[in-house]
Amino acid sequence: MKYCSTCGELVEQRIPQGDNRYRFVCISCDTIHYQNPRIVAGTVPVWNGKILLCRRAIEPRYGYWTLPAGFMENAETTIEAAVRETLEEALAEIHIDGLYSIIDVPHINQVHMFYRATLKDGQFGAGEESLESKLFAPDEIPWDEISFPTVRKTLELFLSEVGSDSFGVHVSDIRHPMASKA
Ligand code: ZN
Repeated sequence: MKYCSTCGELVEQRIPQGDNRYRFVCISCDTIHYQNPRIVAGTVPVWNGKILLCRRAIEPRYGYWTLPAGFMENAETTIEAAVRETLEEALAEIHIDGLYSIIDVPHINQVHMFYRATLKDGQFGAGEESLESKLFAPDEIPWDEISFPTVRKTLELFLSEVGSDSFGVHVSDIRHPMASKA
C-alpha cells in the first residue's frame, strides 16, 4: 500500500499507539489501514463416486486442475461463496454436504476452506475462468497437474476417507517451505 484510500496522501508503516504491529498509517489523516487474511472458499463436488475438477483458464497456474474455489465476497457466507464459485467455474449446481477442510496459508495471508458437495443433476461445464471441467475417478486424479497445495491436500484427505464414507473436518496449515528451515 502506498496511498491512503481515505484522502489520497502517502501512507507510512508504523506501530500505532496501543498496537504491537506495523500498520499502514496515513501521514495526513491518520487513518490506520488494517490488512487481514482473505478467505478462499471452494468445494469437493462429487457425482457417482467421481470428483469434479476444473482446468484453469487464468493465471496463476493456467492449464492446471483445481477444485472450484475463489475469494469470498463481502456480504456472503462461506457456503454461499463456495456454491457461487462452483457455479461460476464449473457451471455446476450442488448440495453442500458438510465442511471438509480449513487450511491456513499464513505466508500468503489466506485461509482456504473446502466443503464436501454433491452435484444436483450431474450437469457441469466450463465457466469463464475454466478451460474445461471433468469428473475424475479416484485413480484418475491428475496429480502432476494440480494447481495449488491446498487443493492437493484436500484431495488427498478426501480420497483417504472416501472409501469409508466417514468424513472428518480437517484443520491444518501449509507453510512456506523456507519457514520450516529457519
Ligand atoms: Zn489519509
